Amino acid sequence: MKSPALFIDRDGTIIKQIDGHYISSIKQIELIENIFPAVLMLQNEGYLIIMVTNQAGINKGILSNQLVDEINQHIVKLLKKRGIDVTAVYVCPHKPEEQCKCRKPQPGLLLKAAKEHNIDLENSVIIGDTDKDTEAGLNAGLKKVIKI
Ligand SMILES: [Mg+2]
Ligand SMILES: [Zn+2]
Repeated sequence: MKSPALFIDRDGTIIKQIDGHYISSIKQIELIENIFPAVLMLQNEGYLIIMVTNQAGINKGILSNQLVDEINQHIVKLLKKRGIDVTAVYVCPHKPEEQCKCRKPQPGLLLKAAKEHNIDLENSVIIGDTDKDTEAGLNAGLKKVIKI
């Protein structure tokens, strides 16, 4: 039995973005609380919560994989305290010029999550703060995409 998912972008959606900079410390994490009620509502309806984030800073050599994981796990912990259970986090480490299949607006992160967590893509939703997020959703076959 497949489950729908709520795919949710990280920077600018779950946490505040810092203009022109990568988030490089857990001290920089500031949650955007106002989307949490909607996330909780979908979670209660049976949607898996999946975070999907482009982090080109990794392959640019600005951020290590380990640091990005640490920041992501800290965010997962903060969300858990608010009742939100993140099933998985998917990260694209690639630079735009690498032309990978996972950097949003490419659908790779969503497709991988769907395979690994038996997700019903057609009935899933993506929420993000840019067209890259909504286009990734459409490219993965989602019918509902939300830009905040
Ligand atoms: Mg964003
Ligand atoms: Zn990628």
